[in-house]
Order: sequence, then structure tokens, then C-alpha cells
Amino acid sequence: MAKAIPPVTHRGEGKFWFMKMKQVSLLTRDDTDKGQVEAVQVCKTYDTGSASVQALKGVSLRIQPGEVVAIMGPSGCGKTTLLNCLSGLDSVSSGTIKIAGWDIRALSDRELTAFRAREMGFVFQTYNLLPVLTGLENVELPLLVSGVSPKEARARARASIELVGLLDWARHRPAEMSGGQRQRFAIARALATRPSIVWADEPTGALDSATSQEIIDLMLLLNHEHGLTFVWVTHAMEVAQQAHRLVTMRDGRIEADRSLQAESSALPALETLPLSGTKQESRRNDE
Ligand code: ADP
Ligand code: MG
Repeated sequence: MAKAIPPVTHRGEGKFWFMKMKQVSLLTRDDTDKGQVEAVQVCKTYDTGSASVQALKGVSLRIQPGEVVAIMGPSGCGKTTLLNCLSGLDSVSSGTIKIAGWDIRALSDRELTAFRAREMGFVFQTYNLLPVLTGLENVELPLLVSGVSPKEARARARASIELVGLLDWARHRPAEMSGGQRQRFAIARALATRPSIVWADEPTGALDSATSQEIIDLMLLLNHEHGLTFVWVTHAMEVAQQAHRLVTMRDGRIEADRSLQAESSALPALETLPLSGTKQESRRNDE
């Protein structure tokens, strides 16, 4: 049974955000879509002066809460653009996107930023940890930025780092860590605001295959235990095939969209997965 992660209580900005959202809700909230991602006929054209690139050519996609969706496709087919548009990091040229029932195009920049900070976590191929900060400080930072008190931010960051099994490394800087440990801290940072969805663009792209599997196991465990929705963009079929669902893109369109649930063998392995953070202990026991 999925355990819900309690919502973040923000100071200042958080209250302001909530009041603003209540106003918007009269216009755009659709409770039947709560917790979902729904994109309808999304197009994105990049205009770069002389040339214009149609990166998305009418993408429609619905993601249910608690799903793990992998998006695959050749380089340049629009995967990152789709992730950026779905998460509101980038604007769309046409089409609609609803996240948890909110029409994100109806939100102002400020509202969208607050909404993203609250509802979404992001994981990138190159971790994007700040080198001058410790692991703990990296995880705390988005909480402090979104108005959580320093004391609460510290407690939440530690809880998040505990979830990824790396409390012993909290005081270390990224340069002292392995790639897998850095990505675990990046996942802890993504979880710290207790989002409902985590977007991961090539989360294992810089890792060797054993470490890559540890990161996948961790995300599957977080999905299983906390009902977190994950969207993984990946080049690797061995990663994609462990998702619940595989969406294949080509040339700015969705080419195929199929469920992998019946084929998934990930959960039995997760039952016995310890979260100690060491390679030896977290290796999948079906190998
Ligand atoms: P993928 O992640 O599948 O490799 P992208 O979404 O990064 O593909 O890119 C899709 C297409 O959009 C490519 O042709 C790429 O060159 C183009 N593109 C992506 N971002 C930009 C941008 N900021 N400006 C102009 N063109 C872009
Ligand atoms: Mg990309």
C-alpha cells in the first residue's frame, strides 16, 4: 500500500502561493484529474532566428498518479523538450497541459514556479549538485528557497537523505562522492519538497551499469513505498523495461505507448532491497 508523503508547510511564500492557487482554482481546477499529468496536442516550436525547429508535433499523453513511465527515442526526437514542457520548465507553442488538475498555462510565472517547487522534483544526468555545498546543504537548498524554516529544512533534508540511504555522507561535498552517491543526493534533493511527481532526464546516463541499476532500484522502491510518480527519459532499454510503461518517441511525436506491468520483474527484488547506500548490499538479488 502506497504511503502518502505529507505536504510541505511553507512559510510566507507558501501561504501566498496557496491563496493564489485558491483564486485560480475557481477557473481551472478539475478535481477529477487530481494527481494526474494530462497533455493534449502539445506542440513546441523553437525559433532560433533563421530556422525554426518543430520539436513537438502534437503530443497527447496521460500519466496516472503512481505510474513509472519511461520515455525513449533517438537523440533529437523531443524527449527533453517533452519533459521540460510537461513540467512547466519550458512553455508550449500550443496544446494544454494539466498537472494534478491544474492547467499550467493558466498560472503566472510566479505561481508556476511555486507549483513546480511544491509538486515536482527533478533529477538530471549530471546531478546538478552545487560543488561548494555538502550533500546535506544541497538537499536543504530548495527547501530554504521555497520558504521552509532552516530548522525544518534541516530535518526534512536529513529525512530525505535517509530515504536514499546516505546519511553517513551528508557532510561530504560532491567531489568526494561516487557518481551513484551524487545521483542519490540529487534524488534526495528532488524528494525533499515531498513532490507528487519526479521528472528524471537520463538519470543513469553518466553511470556504469551496476550503479545505474542501484539508482533504478531506488526510484522503484520510492514509487512502491510512497506512490511517487516517476517519468524517466532514457536511452537505455535495460532501464526503460523496468518502468510500468514505455512511451516511444520519434521526430516530435509519440510512436508507441505500451504497458510493461505484466512483464515487470522489479518488485520481488525490491522486497528485500536494503537502503544502506553501499553497492554490495543494494545490488539486486535476482542477479
Ligand atoms: P532529445 O532529448 O530527444 O534528444 P530534444 O528535446 O533535446 O531531443 O530536442 C528536440 C529538437 O529540438 C532537436 O532538433 C533540438 O535540436 C531542438 N531543440 C531543443 N532545444 C532547443 C532550443 N533551446 N533551441 C532550439 N532548438 C532546440
Ligand atoms: Mg535529451
